[in-house]
Parts: sequence; C-alpha cells; structure tokens
Amino acid sequence: MNAGFQQWLRESIDQLKAQNLYKQPPILESPQGGRVRIGGREVINLASNNYLGLANDPRLKQAAIEAVQQFGAGAGAVRWLGGTNTLYEQLEQKLAEFKKTEAVLVFQSGFNANSGAIPSCFGEGDVIISDELNHASIIDGVRLSSAKYKKSEGYVYEHKNMNHLEDILKRCGHFKKRLIVTDGVFSMDGDIAPLPEIVALAEKYDAVVMVDDAHASGVLGEHGSGTTSHFGLYGRVDIQLGTLSKAIGVIGGYIAGSQLLKEWLINRGRPYLFSTALPPAAVGAILKAIEILQTDPEPMRRLWDNARYWKENLQKLGFDTMGSETPITPVFCGDEGIAQQMERQLYEAGVFVVGIVYPTVPRGKARVRTMPNATHTRKDLDDALEAFEKVGKALGVIHRWV
Ligand SMILES: *Cc1c(COP(=O)(O)O)cnc(C)c1O
Repeated sequence: MNAGFQQWLRESIDQLKAQNLYKQPPILESPQGGRVRIGGREVINLASNNYLGLANDPRLKQAAIEAVQQFGAGAGAVRWLGGTNTLYEQLEQKLAEFKKTEAVLVFQSGFNANSGAIPSCFGEGDVIISDELNHASIIDGVRLSSAKYKKSEGYVYEHKNMNHLEDILKRCGHFKKRLIVTDGVFSMDGDIAPLPEIVALAEKYDAVVMVDDAHASGVLGEHGSGTTSHFGLYGRVDIQLGTLSKAIGVIGGYIAGSQLLKEWLINRGRPYLFSTALPPAAVGAILKAIEILQTDPEPMRRLWDNARYWKENLQKLGFDTMGSETPITPVFCGDEGIAQQMERQLYEAGVFVVGIVYPTVPRGKARVRTMPNATHTRKDLDDALEAFEKVGKALGVIHRWV
C-alpha cells in the first residue's frame, strides 16, 4: 500500500473530526419503522425518508418474493444488452400513467437518473441554470455536462429568488438550449420550489424545465405524484425526476417526460447504458407500492397529519424549523458541534435523528433533520417532543421561550 496516500487519508479524516464534520452511519438492527433498534435499544426513528412506511410493508415484501420466484435474483446485465423483462415494461407503463406523462424510463437510483439525464440532454453551447440549494446529485449531473453552469460565471440563482433567475435568463438568449433545474421539495430544508413561476419564466425565455421530485414523490400532488400535479402544471414541465427509494420504499429513480426524451435516454443516458438494471425483487415491490399509492389515501393522510402535528409542536416549543412546508422538518442549530451534540443527546433520550452538516448544507447552517412519517403514533411524536424540549433547552437551541 502507498504510505503517503494512507497518511493523506489519516490527516484528512482528522481534519474532518476537528471541524465536527466527520460522519459515521448509525447501525440499525431492525427494519425501518416508527421505532428502530440501534445499539440494542429501541429508539423513535425520525431519520428516515420512509414517508409512508412502505419500506417494511408486508405487501411489498410479498411482491418482492413473488418477483424473485418468477424472474430470479438479478437482472443479469444492462437492459439494452441483456434484455429487459415484462416487469420493467409494466413498471414504466404504470409510472407513466401515475405521472400523466407520455413515457417513463427507470434508472437504478435517483442519483443515477440525474447523472444520466442532465449531461445527455445538455452540453456544448447550452446553459444550465440551478437553484443554489439543489441536491448533490443534480450538481454532479450538471458537472458531467459540457454546458455552461458555474456559479462563478453567474448561472446559479439564489434560493427560490425568481428575480435573480429572470436576470440570468435575460443574459442567456444566445445559448442553443437553456435548462432550469430545481429540487421540487428541497431535501434539507423541506420547502417547495415556486414551480409555477419557474415554468412561466421558462415559457417566456424559451427554457426547458427539470424538476427533481425525490422528496415530492409519494408526498405531494394527486396520490403523491409530485409537484407538477401539486401545482396543476401537467404538460408544462419537460423533465420530471422521481425516486422509488424514499416514499416508495424500495430503490431506484426515474425520468418522466415525452416518448422522445425516453428514447434519447435509452440511447444516451450513461447509467442506463453502462450499469446493470434493478433486481426483479425491487421492481416487483415498487409495482406494489405504486398500486397502494393509487388506491389507498390513508398513508399519505397519516403522513401529513403527523407532519403538521410535529412541526406545530416544535415551533410552539420555540425551535426554528427553517420555513419547512413539507414533512422534512429541519431544526436549526447553526454550529456544527451543537448539531452533533444534539444528535448524541437525543439518542440518549431515545430519539434517532441525524445532525446535518457541511457539505450537505452550508457551513454555519447545521441542523438536525427530523422526518415524521405515516408509521408514527401520537405517542411516538409526544415522547420525541419531550426529548427535544429537554435537549434543546440544555444546548440552547431553543431560541424563543413560550
Ligand atoms: C435522495 C435524493 C436523490 C437521490 O435519490 P436516490 O434514489 O436515493 O439515489 C436525488 N435528488 C434529491 C433531491 C434527493 O433528495
């Protein structure tokens, strides 16, 4: 092994630790749910993206088993090469109906869908205009493109600032194509993109709109079909990304749009071309999850009911939830060390949350991110509120005394 490299790794890790930026994954000893087992203890789980509780739903597990029995454990190859199967075709058709778009193409993850779709559609001579709080996978997708996109060159707009976006668009008339790309629901803040305004600007300045609905899938819109539905913008958003890994409870991502977009991505989307497809178990479980979303409004109702209760009560206690409008509920800490202490002390008090620090959020804007979901009982949330009050007061995170 290269000694200099190992030394560099050690020093770099020590630096992260000194800045309170070092992460280690908590180890779960149970399935996902309202409460989980960590370190031999049962704790209230406010850390997952399992919005609707589908990750451990018996109906999804059964569907996964049946798909394995019918189609096996693995996909065998990338789809264009080894052949796709009827399960994928069914899934893409169902998703297209669900999204009310012409077509859908499934990728192995939301991350892959971003890194496949963006650089294959936008390159030399084009410009990509981004919200400054876009998710890392959008940013990486954008970086893979040879379009103009850099913040230092003026192509990143202040978070949700439509005047700033318009200023940028005014300067971009000479590019061949213009893309505006945004999170639908911002993953660390829980606020919603002003999609109607973005679409109106795109129409005025001849730009393409792409929305990443990772956190809107299963959460916003009719049956949880996303922000396009939430705002009634059917037919006006060119590229919609969805995840199958969060509210849908399994794994995978997809791009919804026109049939032409799908055909182009089959031919030029690199993760589709060069990475093996999702296993049949995942596809079978996802099909079941979509069916549940379309027929059973209960999980979404419970999710939003819990989200409202949780947010209202945190605010009553004096926590700053940073303008969140969705179940994603950040609790502002500011300092990275405080966020990490908050995570530790809450765990000791029986609550599992994770402190979010740079590079996931800007420096000095550390927070713990809380995620109430459909599986929480009122008692889970009340117990968690009690723990938050105690720890928040001890750490000085509560800013306002009520
Ligand atoms: C989580 C997330 C992704 C990535 O989705 P995966 O399916 O987990 O790879 C993409 N975009 C946003 C906004 C996300 O929050």
